[in-house]
This record gives sequence, structure tokens and C-alpha cells, in this order.
Amino acid sequence: MATSASAVDIVEVVRQVLARLKEVERGGRAGRAPCGIYASMEEAILRAEAAQKKVTRMTLKEREKCIATIRAALRAHSQELAEMAVQETGMGRVADRIVKNNLVADKTPGTEDLTTEAWSGDAGLTLVEMSPFGVIGAITPSTNPTETVFCNAIGMFAAANSVVFSPHPAAKAASLRSVELISEAIMQAGGPEDAVTSVAEPSIEATQILFGHPAVRLLVATGGPGLVQAALSSGKKTIGAGAGNPPVVVDETADIEKAGHDIIAGGAFDNNVPCIAEKEIIAVESVADYLLFNLLKNGAVQLKDRRDIDHLAEVVLTPEGKPSRSFIGRDAAVLLKAIGKEAPPETRGIVMEVDKKHPFVQEELMMPILPLVRVRNVDEAVQFAVQVEHGNRHTAIMHSKNVDNMTRLAREIQTTVFVKNGPSYAGIGVGGEGFTTFTIAGPTGEGLTSARAFTRKRRCVLVDAFSIR
Ligand code: NAD
Repeated sequence: MATSASAVDIVEVVRQVLARLKEVERGGRAGRAPCGIYASMEEAILRAEAAQKKVTRMTLKEREKCIATIRAALRAHSQELAEMAVQETGMGRVADRIVKNNLVADKTPGTEDLTTEAWSGDAGLTLVEMSPFGVIGAITPSTNPTETVFCNAIGMFAAANSVVFSPHPAAKAASLRSVELISEAIMQAGGPEDAVTSVAEPSIEATQILFGHPAVRLLVATGGPGLVQAALSSGKKTIGAGAGNPPVVVDETADIEKAGHDIIAGGAFDNNVPCIAEKEIIAVESVADYLLFNLLKNGAVQLKDRRDIDHLAEVVLTPEGKPSRSFIGRDAAVLLKAIGKEAPPETRGIVMEVDKKHPFVQEELMMPILPLVRVRNVDEAVQFAVQVEHGNRHTAIMHSKNVDNMTRLAREIQTTVFVKNGPSYAGIGVGGEGFTTFTIAGPTGEGLTSARAFTRKRRCVLVDAFSIR
């Protein structure tokens, strides 16, 4: 009996030690709510408001130390967050999520993004500085939950704001875990508690409270058109990062082998969930067959039979012709299985030829389905690309060796991101120059957001001094 009782004791001791280790690993908060997460939106806002006063008193160097710790936390938890997001939302691929998380850790600008304008002369010295808004309300999507929360938090905190996140309820666990890790990292580096907060049960109602709260000075809305419209109607200053439907145009001068490779690389990345990903291919007739050959060579499969294409459309679209949420971001093999076709799990994408009006072309599917529309020449290609982008002014891609053709599409389509001769993700700094962001503000014009987008410009004038010219 005694032996058995002590065995039970040992098991209990081991259980307690393991729980304690987990507690230490998670910042010593077991049994308490995770860092930065509050039961009500009101409390999350008021806490962030108090914290922001402390953030403004931090030096740039102190803020930068916190940002370095946030970056390190993201790198250390990149895989955990990738797995959480894919498991919770059913969207995307873990390996690609890790790439996106690490991209945010490495290439989101920090305090170095904040610059000063100066005038000096007989009347003295005048500065225009980028100063914080205060408390920012950030609404984040289900499609890139961890990437958007980390990317927004780094830029907003760099500019001395605090931020209250209202994440998509379907990505609650991954988003809140991100908020917790950021909040812990800031405190670990000597920053204040609650510089980054959120609400334990995200909902549209919680977002409405954020929209109406007087302490919130700026809204940053990353998501579909419904969200951007609602945020813009709130009466608050809003940075709106909305939907896209990026066309990729291939003309007769393009390097077709490279175009085939790059379109699959970008269009199949994370199962086409990124808002910048190639959503429909517009190919000039004379190169269309060879392009199709190269798309297949790079891991896509083609549906040729009209009945298969119709069947796929029936399955992945709602009766209204919109993408069915349960198929967004799913693997190509899963989509094929849904129409009774077996394919290896590594299948990158599904291509098919369709006409211009097909919903696969017109709708932002966010699935690894890459419809190809054949056009007579580059004139028709440019015209159709402009039309199918629907005025979102988001992203377009072109493969061409003709500078005039590329210039023409860039001018006519007016997108925030225009990638030439590369995969779409080159536009956010993967294999292309420039910083990264997961909030691309086309509708309101801030473009690829970074710390400076989250600032107010303030003029500071010193009369009759400090001009040494
Ligand atoms: P979504 O619009 O369904 O949700 C985004 C967020 O808005 C969520 O937090 C959601 O709860 C909230 N929301 C939605 N409608 C709302 C309303 N009427 N009032 C208040 N809150 C509302 O988007 P999603 O499916 O999670 O994300 C995919 C969409 O986001 C795509 O259209 C994609 O193109 C777009 N997106 C754009 C960018 C960009 O940088 N421009 C980045 C990522 C995603």
C-alpha cells in the first residue's frame, strides 16, 4: 500500500513540476488570464490608454529594445504559431506560415522608419516630427492572423502608440497567443504592461465598441470590403486595407519558363490565401499553351473537362457564386478530392481555361485555383486586367520583357503593388527589395504600411535660434 501511495505522490509531484515549467515558459502567469487579454473590450481599451502614456515616455532606444524582443519571440514561436493558425482556421500551409512569420520578424520596420523634416534659417529652426496617435484599434483577418498582429504591433509600438486588437473570431487562439507573446516580450524588455491588448472573446460587437470608443484615435482595418466600409463609417480616422483580386498578365515577350515557375510560386504560396497572391492568369494567345505546360511542370494539375470545372465550381462556391469559407485556403489535393479526384498532397495548384466571366476569375477565391483566360494580344490583356481588378487598387503582376507594355499596365491599373517578372510575394519583400507589411492600405492610400503610417505629423518651432548657417 505504502509503495503504491508514494508512486501516486511521485506522479503528482512530476505533474506539478511540469505545470510549473510550462508556467515559467509562458511568463509565470498560469492560472491567470494571458498577458494583455481582458474580459471586456472596454477594459482592453482603458488598459491600453494608460499604457500608452508610459510608452510615450520611453526613449527610442528603449522602444527598439522591446521591438528586438518581440522579433526574437516571433522567431522562437514561429512554428508553434504557424501550426496553431493552420489548425484553427483550416487555411494555408504550415511551412509557408513559418516563412511569413519569419518575414515579419526580419523585415517589419521599427523606429528607424520615423524621420524628421527640418527647416532652418534667419527665423530659427522648425521640425516636423512623426508622433503617435495614441491608442490604435486594429482589426485583423483570419487569413494572416499571427503575421498581421505581429506586423501591426511592431510598427504601431515603434511609433509610440499602444494597440488594442480585435481579431477575427475564427482565428481567436492564434491571434490572442500572438498578443500574449508580444505583451510578454515588451514587459520582458522593460516596457509597460498593456501596450498591446485584446479581448478574450473577439466578436463584431467588440469591434463596434472599438469603433465608438473616444480613447481610440486611429483605426487600422485589415480585411474584406465589409470591414473597411464599416470602419470608414465609424467617423474615426481609418487606415483601410481591403480585398484584392490580383491579375497576372503574361505577354508574348515574357520568359515563359520563368513565368510558369513564378506564377505557381506566388499563386500556390500558402494555398493562395495572401491578398497579394496571383488570383487569375491573363495570357496572350501565342504563349498560352506553353505557359500552361510550364504551370503543370511546376506542380499544378489541369482540369480540362468542362464537367470537372463545373463540378469544382459547384463545390467551392456558394449558391450566390461567392467562395465557400470551408474551402478557402485548403490544399489543392483537398479541393480535388471534393470532386472525386485523387491527387498527391504536394499538388501545388489547379489550373483550367475559362472565359472572362467565370466566377473563378471574377471572385477573390483565396484557394489554389488558378484560372487562365486567353486573350488575343497585350491590348486586350491590359484592358481585361484593369476590369477584373475591380478598382480595388491592390496588386497586379506582369511577366514581360517589354518596358512599354509594363509601364502601360502599371499606369492603367493603378494598384498599390505592381510586381514585374517575379512571384507576387516579391511585392512584400520576399525575393524583392523593400520592407514587409501585412496591411496594404489601397482604399485609403497609405500603401504598404509601416511605423510612419501610424503617426501624426507635428510641427515644433524654435524662434531665432539654432540656425548655424
Ligand atoms: P473579413 O473581412 O471576414 O474579416 C476581417 C476582420 O474584420 C475580422 O476581424 C472580422 O471580425 C472583422 N469584420 C468583418 N466584417 C465586419 C463588419 N461589418 N464590422 C466590423 N468588423 C468586421 O476578412 P478575412 O476573411 O478574415 O480576410 C480575408 C480578406 O481580407 C480578403 O478579402 C483579403 O484580401 C483581405 N486582406 C487584405 C489585406 C491587405 O493588406 N489589404 C491583408 C489581409 C487580408
